[in-house]
Amino acid sequence: MADYDVDLFVIGAGSGGVRAARMASSHGARVMVAEEYRVGGTCVIRGCVPKKLLVYASRFSEDFEDAEGYGWTVPKPTFNWSMLIANKDREIARLEAAYTTTLERYKVQLVKSRAVLEDAHTVRVLSTGARVRAETILIATGGAPHMGAKIVGLEHAISSNEAFHLTELPKRILIQGGGYIAVEFACIFAALGSKVTLVYRRENILRGFDDDVRAHLREEMERRGIKIVCQRIVDSIEKIDHGYCVGLPDHEMVMVDKVMFATGRHPNVTGLGLETVGVKLRESGGIAVDEFSRTSVKNIYAVGDVTDRINLTPVAIREGHAFADTVFGNRSTPVDHTNVPTAVFSQPEIGVIGLTETQAREQLDKVDIYKTIFRPMKATLSGRDTRVFMKLVVDGATGRVAGCHIVGADAGELIQMVGVAMKMGATKADFDATMAVHPTMAEELVTMREKAMSYTRAAAE
Ligand SMILES: Cc1cc2nc3c(=O)[nH]c(=O)nc-3n(C[C@H](O)[C@H](O)[C@H](O)COP(=O)(O)OP(=O)(O)OC[C@H]3O[C@@H](n4cnc5c(N)ncnc54)[C@H](O)[C@@H]3O)c2cc1C
Repeated sequence: MADYDVDLFVIGAGSGGVRAARMASSHGARVMVAEEYRVGGTCVIRGCVPKKLLVYASRFSEDFEDAEGYGWTVPKPTFNWSMLIANKDREIARLEAAYTTTLERYKVQLVKSRAVLEDAHTVRVLSTGARVRAETILIATGGAPHMGAKIVGLEHAISSNEAFHLTELPKRILIQGGGYIAVEFACIFAALGSKVTLVYRRENILRGFDDDVRAHLREEMERRGIKIVCQRIVDSIEKIDHGYCVGLPDHEMVMVDKVMFATGRHPNVTGLGLETVGVKLRESGGIAVDEFSRTSVKNIYAVGDVTDRINLTPVAIREGHAFADTVFGNRSTPVDHTNVPTAVFSQPEIGVIGLTETQAREQLDKVDIYKTIFRPMKATLSGRDTRVFMKLVVDGATGRVAGCHIVGADAGELIQMVGVAMKMGATKADFDATMAVHPTMAEELVTMREKAMSYTRAAAE
């Protein structure tokens, strides 16, 4: 131990790194963490948090419209993008300071610098050139936007990083991508008044989500005026007098004020010195780790998006916490990556957990599907043309609920609690035995009686 300057060196002060650093410190370790940009990482600085603030802002537009049917006279509302961004920036700065204070409180040494590996026990801090010897190293460097193939004019496209700092709200924006970040930004900009075109190379948005969810959200987004162009890909971006001319196949052109690419993210592994020390990557480009987040080098661990397992904040936090308990807390703690609930903060919102119908049919011998589409009560007086969608995927052999998929207001809040039930192994019979809360949207989850579909593997083959 005496050989080392610190017991743990953490590279990256994001969700996973900060949690690991403070837990390791609370277990008695001497910890140093390096951060090259801002403390808090993607989630706090340019991910979940600022995004959710923009989502809140965007949702007022429907609230103002809906209020009328409930007797309110709302003068034509106006919206100030600069004020929103300034307020959002103030909140992000407050959170960054809170994270920094937390690290100080836990006696974690913070160095504001890029750090790279020199050998299995040495980290070089680039701002000073200092070499720090550490017994254990944790790589928690997260991910970064991946802008896709090099096309003409790619330098004009922004990523989600820049979208949080636009000086004005674009009147027209083209967003390329079909993942949750593309979809969320499309909904934010559209609700704030931008004309939005979403371009996606595959057959439908939100690949990996349940097909019914994908179809339902697409319809809802189109109903809100978002133009969704699938099976196309941007092939050029030209700067013109007032904005950009975006080229699509077959000489189609779209004129916009901003072009945003949300075409995926890649793990931050470049230039870290991983090859030098022998840390192996998986085919996806993420760092290969075992269930305890240990890499191919025995004293080097990796957590969060850099491992490209499930790229979500709570997962990075859990992995960081489990790593600290395992290595410094004398408690071997693997992370369970099954049944992770998640939300898409689109308009309307999505909340999902577990297997999609397609996955269930591939993995289970017998599958029962329950689903419902209905007009939410709030839409009756407001007159809004919108529908809620819910689906339960049930393991027909055991009765256990294997998947739950919701599209509707507050679906993210709902799915958190469905997650608890599913983690406990709830069956469809348990759902049925639970008394409904009336009148709510959620009561539909415990009142779906009729099977919409039933599959057995033999019949499906
Ligand atoms: C637009 C957007 C919206 C999102 N929305 C959600 C959401 O709603 N819910 C959700 O759960 N997840 C969301 N995510 C994903 C979430 O932000 C990430 O899963 C999470 O931040 C991963 O945490 P991490 O600790 O692995 O990495 P990060 O939080 O990315 O932290 C990594 C840190 O390492 C630093 N770093 C990198 N290399 C070095 C180096 N060599 N030296 C020093 N420092 C370095 C980086 O600057 C960064 O601060 C969103 C992401 C984006 C981009």
